[in-house]
Formats: sequence, C-alpha cells, structure tokens
Amino acid sequence: MTAIDNVDPAEIAKFEALAARWWDPNSEFKPLHEINPLRANWIDSFSSVKGKSLLDVGCGGGLLTEAMAWRGASVKGIDMGEAPLSVARLHQLESGLDIDYEKTTAEQLAAQSPGAFDVVTCLEMLEHVPEPGAVIAACAALAKPGADLYFSTINRNPKAFAFAIVGAEYILNLLPKGTHEYGKFIKPSELAGWIRQAGLVLTDVSGLTYNPITRHYRLHPTDLSVNYMVRASKPDSA
Ligand code: SAH
Repeated sequence: MTAIDNVDPAEIAKFEALAARWWDPNSEFKPLHEINPLRANWIDSFSSVKGKSLLDVGCGGGLLTEAMAWRGASVKGIDMGEAPLSVARLHQLESGLDIDYEKTTAEQLAAQSPGAFDVVTCLEMLEHVPEPGAVIAACAALAKPGADLYFSTINRNPKAFAFAIVGAEYILNLLPKGTHEYGKFIKPSELAGWIRQAGLVLTDVSGLTYNPITRHYRLHPTDLSVNYMVRASKPDSA
C-alpha cells in the first residue's frame, strides 16, 4: 500500500466539515479540549519536551501541537485535512507559537526525514486510517534512536461501543453521529503488536476515563476499557 492509499478521504472530510469550531471548547471538540491538559502533561512527564524536536501526526486544529509548543518543544504538525491545518495556522497567529504545519502523511514525511524527531505523537488518529500499523511504522522511522512515541485511540469492546458511540454520539451529543466507526477501534493487544512490529518497545500505558455524571475525564493507570494512550520507545540501536 502506498502512503496516499493509507488516507481515508471520508474520514478527512468529517474533520474538514467541523474544523471551524476546533478551538471552541463547547463544540464537537469538547472531549479533545478536556483531555488535552491530561495527555500533554502525561507526555511531558516522561519526555520533558522543552528544547526537543517533536512531530505531531494528525495534528488537526493544533490542540496538542500548541500545548507541546507552550511547553517549549520545537514542533512540527502534519495532517491531511486542509481546513484543520488552516485553523491551526490561524490560531498559531494568535498564540504566537513557533510551529511548522504541513499537509503530508507520516509515511511521506518518513521517506524525506527519517530519524528526525526526539518525540513523535499521534493521538486520536489511528482509528481513522485504513492501516494503523503502517502509520506506526512510519512514526517509528521518523523517530531518532532513543526517542519516545505516543499513541492514543479507543478500545474495541461492548463498553467502548456503549461509551464512545452510543453515549458520546447518541445520548450526550458530545460528538456528531458517525464520528467513530466501531470496527476501526483498536484493542491494546493490536496496538502493542503493531508497536512491536515497528521495532519499538511499549513502555507505559494510561487510560483516560470519562465520568458521565461529573462529565470530566481523568487519567486512570489501569482502566484501558474505552479511551487509552501508550508510550513506546525506539531502542538506541534501532
Ligand atoms: N491529533 C489531534 C486531532 C485528532 S482528530 C488531537 O488529538 O487533538 C484526527 C485528525 O487526523 C484529523 O485532523 C484528520 O484530518 C487527521 N487524519 C486522519 N487520517 C490521516 C492521515 N492518514 N494522515 C494524516 N492525518 C490524518
């Protein structure tokens, strides 16, 4: 499969349609706004990103991208959506942060700049691509030996279906109907397999649990049943 085949135009179109509201914390992107400080701090607690080069794959409107730049990383953000990238660039004018945004895929960039980044993040994107394993392999190629990589996605089980689709899209109206497809959700064992195949070592995991009563997310050390993120490391010798 070539790099461009691993982009689903229907998935990109979903985010293009919503992009104008990306930075509105009460919009469809509310869940991303809520989890953003949790995940940014989790990443920074391991990788101390200040002064490091960081690549954010599938950056969308730039929520994590800016959070990492605020913490002092030198950041590049890539996405295949025009509108999310335009929103990210506009918001960057306001925030004055130094971020290099580019429309490309991880696979294409890996062919140009292998081994270029100290930290690679790819959050809430793998469940929107045809072959997540190919994206993970490209992220591994983009990372320097010794680098940290972070991936997040949604688990595939009845509870994840109930929370991430029925609850979020149909009951709480947090997300537009059709945002997520159950069959594209990823079990931690599958993610771990792709990470291993890419020559990376899985080093940490964290759940992101949502309490529908308080309507807040928090990190959970062991509950990976719905939203979760992982840290992987590229061996020094790889
Ligand atoms: N990572 C961001 C945005 C998640 S939304 C965050 O967590 O805040 C998913 C994003 O992935 C969208 O902006 C969409 O355009 C992008 N995307 C989907 N498939 C992609 C691909 N194959 N390559 C690059 N970006 C992709």
